Amino acid sequence: MINDTPLTRDFWRNGFSEDCPIYDMHGHMGAWKSIWFPRPDAEDMVYSMDRANVRLLCFAHHAALFAPDLGNAPAIEAVRRFPERLRAYLAVNPHYPDALRRDLADFDRHRDVFVGLKVLAGYHNVAMTAPAYEAAFAFAHERRLLVLMHTWGGNALCGPEIVRRLAARYPEARLLCGHSFHGAWDEAIALAREFPNLSLELTAVLDNDRGAIEKLVSAGLSERMLFGTDLPWFAHHRGVGALLSADITDDDRHNILHRNAERLLAGFPGLG
Ligand SMILES: [Zn+2]
Repeated sequence: MINDTPLTRDFWRNGFSEDCPIYDMHGHMGAWKSIWFPRPDAEDMVYSMDRANVRLLCFAHHAALFAPDLGNAPAIEAVRRFPERLRAYLAVNPHYPDALRRDLADFDRHRDVFVGLKVLAGYHNVAMTAPAYEAAFAFAHERRLLVLMHTWGGNALCGPEIVRRLAARYPEARLLCGHSFHGAWDEAIALAREFPNLSLELTAVLDNDRGAIEKLVSAGLSERMLFGTDLPWFAHHRGVGALLSADITDDDRHNILHRNAERLLAGFPGLG
């Protein structure tokens, strides 16, 4: 469907809208084994962001997630190079408890860098309710941090039942359900309605499945949905195009592309 509204017209014509800065709440960074990314590094990614008027990207660096010898250092460096455009999630690797302890102890030295934590249970193969994550979730709860979690429908490590327990146990942590429990849309809706501390993030929702956006929005959740892309895996215009083409209003699109993120990020240093 080609929509014709003030916002969609801007994007169709220019590739961005001055009236609609975008907050990409789910990115990564850096090279990846066996895949060639055209623009994987900090300055390349800022270039990508400029093309769609993406104001801010919140990311978890691939090194932080998968190269514990490097850990979160490359993320800190990238944010400090582009403090106007980047914030990071401190990656939590359940297999390296000493590194996690050290990173949390150092958190206050990096208040300008991190807006929260990133948990990737499905890849690290440890359920999010396991003891290895407890210190991290408790830390996020105490400080009202964001926690971007990889969530997926039907996954025993990071599916709806696991997140229900976390949302109840850590009500002050602001849980961002990455991929919105892909496929388990009814459970995603039920959880968002039950827990005000939980947002639904749209990376991979904006893919080949049709109708998920309309389903979440018509459940009254456009103020609980966040835009994300997995950059540098997927391009901004791919995700934005799916939102522009969905059968929702410009008001919903503004909520998803920037207003909800602005609300979540208010109060973090340098972010209003
Ligand atoms: Zn991701």
